[in-house]
Amino acid sequence: MVPLPSTVPACNSVPCVLLALVSTLSSQFSVCFVLPQLLAQEQNACTTGGKELGDWEKDWQESRIGFHKPGVHMMLKKYIHLVLAGRSKICFFLPLCGKTVDMKWLADMGHSVVGVEISEKAIREFFEESKLTYSEEPVPTIPGAKVYKSSDGNISLYQCDLYSFSSSIGGQFGAIWDRGSLVAINSGDREKYIALMTSLMDKDCTYLLETSSYNPELYPGPPFCLPEEQVQTLFGKSFNFQLLDSEELLLKDLKGLDRLTELIFLITGKK
Ligand code: SAH
Repeated sequence: MVPLPSTVPACNSVPCVLLALVSTLSSQFSVCFVLPQLLAQEQNACTTGGKELGDWEKDWQESRIGFHKPGVHMMLKKYIHLVLAGRSKICFFLPLCGKTVDMKWLADMGHSVVGVEISEKAIREFFEESKLTYSEEPVPTIPGAKVYKSSDGNISLYQCDLYSFSSSIGGQFGAIWDRGSLVAINSGDREKYIALMTSLMDKDCTYLLETSSYNPELYPGPPFCLPEEQVQTLFGKSFNFQLLDSEELLLKDLKGLDRLTELIFLITGKK
């Protein structure tokens, strides 16, 4: 069996895997039996696929973490009063948390924070860079998963695939801060992702969502392009949602894309 090349586009679909196999075979045996047009079409289809868990872990190992911000996210600071809506000491959920410093900021305000992140390196760096002592233990209901907890118990980070996490493990939350998360997952997983977020929201939950809008012909993602119409399609039926803000950001590290518009939404349950 010919091994798949390491440059195979991260994609589960049968056409993509076939394509990778065909390109490997054709390059190894110098037999070009695929119409270039077909190849181009399939490559395009692959770009909507996205990244696998192993790709993210590799990015962390090789410190390709251009998404990480050294400071607290400006939009979280700007809209925290709407998220809190007069409440104090609430429990925040940060899906795909990386090592964002927003978690420490929220915990320092007296809230508790639960995050989910596949990269162990990200989690350890979060605690170490925040100068927080922590413990680690296995999660009995998720094989191979661990939970890392700050010594004061206010921050718990689950190292596992997001889709293994559920309200039976973490309970329900008063707020969700979704930055670089919905836009990071593969587009085919969006319904599953939103079903999970919905199950994690308590009845008063406020969900602050950041998405990116840009010309998808210039860059395949992640972050994937998620303009307001798509947010409406995903959340509009079951939730109230409001576009709070938008800001054009200049970029250095996404090939082909020099700017994108960051959109901030507030999502709440329909009462
Ligand atoms: N929210 C963070 C990180 C965003 S990048 C921030 O603002 O900095 C997306 C992160 O999700 C990466 O750290 C990646 O390792 C992690 N990730 C991607 N898919 C995942 C999955 N299915 N389960 C758990 N973590 C995942």
